[in-house]
Amino acid sequence: MARVICVASQKGGVGKTTTAVNLSAALAATERKTLLVDFDPQGHATTALGVDKGKLNKTVFHGIMGQALGPEIVMDSELEFLKVLPARTELFSAEVALMSRPGKEKKLRNLLDQLRDGYEYVIMDTAPSLGLLAMNSFVAADDLVIPLQCEFLALEGLYSMMKSIQVIRERIHHGLKIAGILLNMFEPGDETSRKIEESARRHFGDLVFRSVIPRDVQLKRSPEFGTPILLRDALSPASRRFLALAREIIRQGSQDQRKFGRSGKRAEQAVT
Ligand code: ADP
Ligand code: MG
Repeated sequence: MARVICVASQKGGVGKTTTAVNLSAALAATERKTLLVDFDPQGHATTALGVDKGKLNKTVFHGIMGQALGPEIVMDSELEFLKVLPARTELFSAEVALMSRPGKEKKLRNLLDQLRDGYEYVIMDTAPSLGLLAMNSFVAADDLVIPLQCEFLALEGLYSMMKSIQVIRERIHHGLKIAGILLNMFEPGDETSRKIEESARRHFGDLVFRSVIPRDVQLKRSPEFGTPILLRDALSPASRRFLALAREIIRQGSQDQRKFGRSGKRAEQAVT
């Protein structure tokens, strides 16, 4: 059964979609069956994998509204081991449409239950909010990857994110874990980047992935081409970093190990 990882941050523009798309591609490149779930109404991850949103019949919206089954919605990508559950703007209306339904925060989890047996990894891209869609993605997730843009005040946002996660753990999903914090848009020659890395590692220790994603023009342009960076330039620094990140995630091992592992404890210490 798949490990379900949600790429989450309350902030926009930190690299959630970039991480979800390129991490999924890296896992698939190592021949792990991977499903990328686009759970952002903007549907940028869907576009980044070359799916033409205009031609879609069913999207994740229809799945969570009970109007389609998971396997009917899943689409192929250019990579044999990577499939995608696409999203489009209609997902915006789900917040309101689900509001009066019973179990409204479990709809995505129920949809993924129809699919997770067929995959080793499910990677979710999410919108930067703490509304009902975000709750659905937290409830559906085993653990979180939190991208951190290497810029001034990034850590402040991270502390508030950690507090939100603590509340979610207490109130709706006790087992939610943190796979790791991912430093993104890192510039080696830049003092701010170095300071952010140093503070993040000091405060959050081994919760911070060893792999750091550099600021990279090719990565920025990747969605324009509708293909993950690995398929355009497998040897580029960004491709190598995403492969290294995939290896770190694979090494984190079985769910039970992680449940009692250091990461969970560390996360709790970090916010108390
Ligand atoms: P989010 O999903 O959190 O809003 P995105 O992944 O869409 O963030 O990234 C925001 C913008 O920054 C996009 O234009 C994206 O291409 C760019 N970007 C993200 N990560 C990098 C990176 N490592 N190097 C260069 N550009 C990046
Ligand atoms: Mg995004």
